[in-house]
Amino acid sequence: MTDEILQVRHFIGGEFVDSLDGATFDSISPIDNAVVAHVAEGSAADADRAVEAARRAFDDGPWPRMSPAARRKIIHRAADLIESRLEELASWETRDMGKPISECRTKDVPRTAHNFRFFADFAEMQHTEAFPKPWDNVLTYTLREPVGVSACISPWNFPMMLESWKVAPALAFGNTVVLKPAEQSPISASIIAECFLDAGLPEGVFNVVHGFGPDAAGERLTTHPGVDLVTFTGESATGRVIMANAAQTLKRVSFELGGKSASIVMADADIDLAIKGTIDGIFRNQGEVCLAGSRLLVQREIYEEFLERYVAAAEALVVGDPRDAATQIGPLVSTEHLEKVLSYIELGQAEGGKLMTGGHRVTEGALALGNYVAPTVFADVDNSWRIAQEEIFGPVQVVVPFDTLEEAIAIANDNRYGLAGMVWTSNLNTAHRVAREVRTGTMWVNCFFVRDLRAPFGGMKDSGIGREGGAYSEEFFTESKAVVIQFPS
Ligand code: ADP
Repeated sequence: MTDEILQVRHFIGGEFVDSLDGATFDSISPIDNAVVAHVAEGSAADADRAVEAARRAFDDGPWPRMSPAARRKIIHRAADLIESRLEELASWETRDMGKPISECRTKDVPRTAHNFRFFADFAEMQHTEAFPKPWDNVLTYTLREPVGVSACISPWNFPMMLESWKVAPALAFGNTVVLKPAEQSPISASIIAECFLDAGLPEGVFNVVHGFGPDAAGERLTTHPGVDLVTFTGESATGRVIMANAAQTLKRVSFELGGKSASIVMADADIDLAIKGTIDGIFRNQGEVCLAGSRLLVQREIYEEFLERYVAAAEALVVGDPRDAATQIGPLVSTEHLEKVLSYIELGQAEGGKLMTGGHRVTEGALALGNYVAPTVFADVDNSWRIAQEEIFGPVQVVVPFDTLEEAIAIANDNRYGLAGMVWTSNLNTAHRVAREVRTGTMWVNCFFVRDLRAPFGGMKDSGIGREGGAYSEEFFTESKAVVIQFPS
């Protein structure tokens, strides 16, 4: 399969179709910058077609009217099919966007299947409230109904996993969906559409439109009057544009946006654990992670020792072809993104950061064809510098020393983002204090990336609007209706 070029089409109304005007674009593999797929390029007219299919399926079709148990059965069948196509999904995702295949096999594909199962099960457990007033002979209770047509606009860094995080609750709670995958990583969404087709999902319930955002399919989904809600993961700047566009038709929105999360290492931490966690925190997925612990705050007493070991751990990471199971760091998603990350590395040096390791492309052998960057660590960084304030979204760590806990908390909060954070300490009081005082949607204590799908997930400040996960997703993807019954006295 290595050199095969795929034809990727839209999935609309239960069929794989080309764009109305026949337009296509090439998806380029970051491994060698060769074409991996010819992809249907959706225009506004294609988005309209998908919304109409989803609208029909919602207004007249069986899906919103089915029992959650019946929906659960179909979603579970799709999840089983996703798992049965693990190797195929993993290899295409890796070729499409450069993620190490070991991650795809052990995390992205299984978690995608799990997300679908989790929300299908969760929706079946749905319960509502009652407000009885027997003294007035009145009973008020609530019904939860699906909202309608959901536009799911997703990014390229965890393509199938983040798509499933949106599509799973949308479907499980009875909505219909138009998914617009990121243009850099379109392939897995089409494979998942095949799984839903084979699982017997009624036509028009799940649609996929490929293409770009501005002035194209993506933007149209945010302005179309037939779309009821938009869930989006991507850059904060894009979130602003989508919110403004969606405001015209008063759509409900949920956004998970950028981050520059602080990872605070206290002198009393388990240092081995902290090194492992904070290395993973920035270098997993080549640093293309919105939750990344991309500011490493280390207490001065252990700063020198920690830094030395941290640099050694960064240098031990295996950069290579992501199709190789031993690879830990693959190429960056595109040449454009590579340039952006390299320009931040240049900026870091100009701002006065001490480059401890990395800071360059990796171009040995066949890697010269791809977008590889060596794990990079800047020490002695001031939190006010741009490399400490802006999201780089690559394998670049900035290390900031601090003296006291108060100072660490102040530094952590001195940023426009508030997505996540980590604290590494053996002191329970310190952990609680950091968790309470740092303004973020998630705070991890002595761990990273551990997720419970029932818990709220989202960001504060410029990192997002709303929360998803368990009952939080139910809140977003359903309408509450009050039913008031007056009994005769
Ligand atoms: P990145 O720059 O990392 O690709 P973006 O936030 O631009 O991140 O993109 C995330 C997703 O949002 C992609 O699917 C992209 O096509 C889509 N997108 C970008 N701009 C818009 C827009 N104006 N309206 C709707 N979707 C958009």
